[in-house]
Amino acid sequence: FNHRPTFTNLVLVLGAASSGGLVAYADSNSDDVVGKPQGPPKKKIVVLGTGWGGTTFLRNLDSRLYDVQVISPRNYFAFTPLLPSVTCGTVEPRSVVEPIRRILEKKGGDIKFWEAECFKIDSANKKIHCRSNIGTNLDGNGEFLVDYDYLVIAVGARSNTFNTPGVEENCFFLKEVEDAQKIRRNVMDCFERASLPYLDEEERKKNLHFVVVGGGPTGVEFAAELHDFVTEDLSKLYPSIQHLVKISLIEAADHILTMFDKRITEFAEDKFGRDGIDVKTGYKVVKVAKDAITMQNPATGDIAVPYGMAVWSTGIGTRPFISEFMKQIGQGKRRVLATDEWLRVRECDGVYAVGDCATINQRRVMDDISEIFRVADKDNSGTLTVKEIQDVLDDIYVRYPQVELYLKSRQMNGIADLVRTAKGDAEKESVELNIEEFKKALSLVDSQVASQQGQYLARCFNKMKDAEENPEGPIRIRGEGRHRFRPFRYRHLGQFAPLGGEQTAAQLPGDWISIGHSTQWLWYSVYATKQISWRTRALVISDWSRRFIFGRDSSCI
Ligand code: FAD
Repeated sequence: FNHRPTFTNLVLVLGAASSGGLVAYADSNSDDVVGKPQGPPKKKIVVLGTGWGGTTFLRNLDSRLYDVQVISPRNYFAFTPLLPSVTCGTVEPRSVVEPIRRILEKKGGDIKFWEAECFKIDSANKKIHCRSNIGTNLDGNGEFLVDYDYLVIAVGARSNTFNTPGVEENCFFLKEVEDAQKIRRNVMDCFERASLPYLDEEERKKNLHFVVVGGGPTGVEFAAELHDFVTEDLSKLYPSIQHLVKISLIEAADHILTMFDKRITEFAEDKFGRDGIDVKTGYKVVKVAKDAITMQNPATGDIAVPYGMAVWSTGIGTRPFISEFMKQIGQGKRRVLATDEWLRVRECDGVYAVGDCATINQRRVMDDISEIFRVADKDNSGTLTVKEIQDVLDDIYVRYPQVELYLKSRQMNGIADLVRTAKGDAEKESVELNIEEFKKALSLVDSQVASQQGQYLARCFNKMKDAEENPEGPIRIRGEGRHRFRPFRYRHLGQFAPLGGEQTAAQLPGDWISIGHSTQWLWYSVYATKQISWRTRALVISDWSRRFIFGRDSSCI
């Protein structure tokens, strides 16, 4: 074996696998054997995932203090907020990704990376089971085991189909860079197919009907990007069929962008109306066949609509191996890993979870909260008293301990704070609360947290040794006893919704709303600043400039 930190470091052990076969063992300490001072062994941190949570953790961790191994099926970090721009060629795929090894190299420490996926966590024995997608071991199955002292789970989530028939087979998703590339190719295929000589008008129309399911920020941004692509670029290249293009946006709730302020929702719906994007709210997609998408509305019943391409963007769900792990540790009834305020997975020694795998899915929570409200609002008045709100909250906390955690992390500790946030005044006990406003206040709890959690956790790990040597750490903020670290606190930094035509809506801290062309420039500056490296920053800015000068590329490659 060579002693470099590469995949060839795998030491084979017999009988370590539960299957009884030969299983490779990733032994990260084998470097220490030759030519290095033999101090006390460093504690092993294993990080699962190279997305927002995992990468931010690694960038902030003092990697000299630990023996760090990173495992992820993709060897890069992807800047997800720009994925909708990749679907139409506004930005190129390589401009939004940064190789993980480049990020690790910049840290200068001795961090190992294995391109593989974890398929089982054995928290009782502090081992994880992994499988390489590219290589193989002597047994041919590419499986290996990794030990840990601390495990940081940052594996994100998968697209959620809510078990709707036909979605998996017939829809495109927008979660990964590959998804965005597939969408880009397929949009062009639809245009080329619709241009073929032997098609009648109906078939051309069908091929050019683009359906986006899900009126959240991703679905809305994709619909807007596609509309810009069609009007600014493709209409010139396909003049004979451009009038047949139709974009439909289907949303089950009464409005799109429900997590945004009402002013933004209204502006977006009006703008899409003017642009000719067919926004269908109150429709639930129940089936997606090869040629037609079936949706349901209480007034109209089932409607089947022919389509050329459908993009499914209705939210996220738990990865199967995380569901298995949750069953193993008694969290089987939950939808995400439950952590405490220090991001430790409950009942699991040395295991931490950050990002989407530990964050509640807003759509589900809102559905449940609506249901709880419906039950609590016995007189159907649309308002609840403080006492009723307390009961509702208790019910929500039982179902979603994470909601309580996030309310705390936003320093919203009880009814009074919620009432203040929802009503914008400081009245306390006597106030009655409008349900819609209350839901809006609660909806703020599920924004992007992965990178803030990654940063927080890295800082805790950096101070861990100090804290062990000085156990009388800071007094816990609330509750009994002392704790070594302050609990995680989420800071809401606002959110954007690009709406096409160089217009963006933004909801910034303090409920500050900004909509229009100037906000689009704010969007450009924020996303240019937030890039993970100067390389991606330069690439993204040059892509934007290229698009302004030459338009988007329409080749099917
Ligand atoms: P991810 O970033 O998804 O990373 C998960 C990592 O785990 C990946 O590296 C993956 O390869 C790896 N992994 C998966 N399975 C395994 C396994 N079995 N073993 C090991 N590793 C595994 N949020 C915002 O705040 N603002 C936005 O504008 C915004 N826009 C978005 C646009 C799109 C199109 C999408 C899809 C998401 C957007 N989000 C946005 C949400 C944001 O991307 C997520 O909240 C964030 O990525 C969550 O970070 P994470 O680390 O939990 O997961």
